Amino acid sequence: MSTQHELLSALDEFIVRMPKVELHLHLEGAIRPGTLLALAERNGVDLPARDEAGVAQLFNYRNFHEFLTVFMVLARSLTTGRDFEQVAYELGTHLAMQNVRYAEVMISPVQYHRRALDLDEVVQGAAAGFAQAAREYGVRVGLAFDYGRQFGVDLAWELLESAVRNMRHGVVAWSIGGDEVNHPPEPFAEVFAAARRAGLFVMAHAGEVVGPASVWGAVEVLGARRVGHGIRCIDDPALPAYLREQGVVLDICPTSNVRTGAVPGLNAHPLRRLFDMGVPLTINTDDPVFFATTMCDEYRLAARTFGFDAGDLAQLSRTGARAAFLPVVERDALAYRLDQEIAALRADLGV
Ligand SMILES: [Zn+2]
Repeated sequence: MSTQHELLSALDEFIVRMPKVELHLHLEGAIRPGTLLALAERNGVDLPARDEAGVAQLFNYRNFHEFLTVFMVLARSLTTGRDFEQVAYELGTHLAMQNVRYAEVMISPVQYHRRALDLDEVVQGAAAGFAQAAREYGVRVGLAFDYGRQFGVDLAWELLESAVRNMRHGVVAWSIGGDEVNHPPEPFAEVFAAARRAGLFVMAHAGEVVGPASVWGAVEVLGARRVGHGIRCIDDPALPAYLREQGVVLDICPTSNVRTGAVPGLNAHPLRRLFDMGVPLTINTDDPVFFATTMCDEYRLAARTFGFDAGDLAQLSRTGARAAFLPVVERDALAYRLDQEIAALRADLGV
């Protein structure tokens, strides 16, 4: 008979070895401090930090607004297509180490546009870095444009054109993020409709700091089939049931929610409650370097804090594969491969 301790260490090993999907991840929040400093130096960008400890210090923001500010300041280090290729390759390598088989990575086009960078060069640089990681480690990455909603609808139209133009370079999705409090989803309805018509998948950050109205808007008005965070949907009893029935997936980022103050602490996080209500969920890092977390950390947290067992964790991974913004045939193939591999791993480890 297994002891409790043996079961826990088998679950730990399962978490490390299980094939994963990560659907909510920002390129700009995933750059190693050492790389940020090197890029800033190479590009003559003045960062408010001189060494890795200084960069780490910047990550100690007190609220969501400060977080957004730091995020923008650090992204200034990236200038050329070569920079994006380097950070994308490093992130692809990192994902492969976490046994992530498929990921979708958001880039924030507004700040590059405002700095007059060539967005085609940004995307194609990132795509080249991820392609190299795919060749070396077999991790596949799709790109998404995450538009900062506070910059308004007019600019969104302009950047959507760039997203569509770069679909042949791996852009698969259009999203909005940024200041959810002052910028509800509704004004972006037509932009999202156009994105869908062009063949892009769509998603939206919603229900992270604003309540259910924001999630309803993302789903009903923008047509999002995946919602970034969405945790505040718990405040409207009708909403989790609706998401479950419609198969709308919440891409949840537990550590991020604690670090940005979206929840007062993990104990208050609705991850387990939403899972038990049958809402389709994935778990993700959001900004792994900013929040000092990894996919394995997030899965461990789900296991230790929220009591997810191997079957529950496997379900998160399977939901990720089924919700991937891939053509149906490839999505089914990914889900099938993950299922097979996870079943073999569970049998091997007895979890
Ligand atoms: Zn996000």
